[in-house]
Amino acid sequence: MNSRRRFRKALSFAQKTLGRFYYVPYCAVCDEAVHPPLPSPFVCKDCLSVLPFRMGAERIEWEGPFPLYATFFYKDALPKLLISMKFAGRTDRAQALAPLMARTIRRHRLTADAIIPVPLHRRRKAERGYNQVSVLADCLASSVDTPAVDSLLVRHRFTERQSEAHSVKERHLHLQDAFRLDPLCPAAVPLGGRTVFLLDDVLTTGATMAEAARPLLEAGIHVTGLVAATGKDRYQGFLTAADQW
Ligand SMILES: [Zn+2]
Repeated sequence: MNSRRRFRKALSFAQKTLGRFYYVPYCAVCDEAVHPPLPSPFVCKDCLSVLPFRMGAERIEWEGPFPLYATFFYKDALPKLLISMKFAGRTDRAQALAPLMARTIRRHRLTADAIIPVPLHRRRKAERGYNQVSVLADCLASSVDTPAVDSLLVRHRFTERQSEAHSVKERHLHLQDAFRLDPLCPAAVPLGGRTVFLLDDVLTTGATMAEAARPLLEAGIHVTGLVAATGKDRYQGFLTAADQW
């Protein structure tokens, strides 16, 4: 081992050791240092008290053929949290949101055998480097002791960004047959007849959630939809634009 490598190894050891003693937790919402005990993992007391929880309105009214739940309204701190989680590599924000989403699961006594994140197309994933919903699924998996299965659902059609599609009809056309199951995924057969949580970060019109669920439902897998946040209270109209449901 040359001296430079030895130095680097010693430095990395020193950082890890010192970090153990000098680690100051910070709030994933406001980025301020907070002092334990934290009222909630990763979120300070002040931020927790003003997060826009949906509470009595967690079950979403929509026309899709499976139940759908959201933990937050898409307002106040949520757009910043979710956008930075998606585009700025702030995956620590998934750690903050997942335990709060787990409370929605417990409040409604929801159970499932796996958590399936809504996938990105591999080209989009390569651009961004990660799928923020997969990161959220992994954090939620440890909060509710249910495995996250990332490889079952595949987005095989590269579509425009949903935010660039204006109408509900446009969104549906972009997404039609965009998802399929990977028959080689080891979970494909065992999940038949069982229930999964289909997870997404934001619900806008419901088009992505509906289309992503389609191959799961066709394979006889029961679906319960979960999203971190949504801004509207009623989701209707997309059915009339979709060819089938
Ligand atoms: Zn805070």
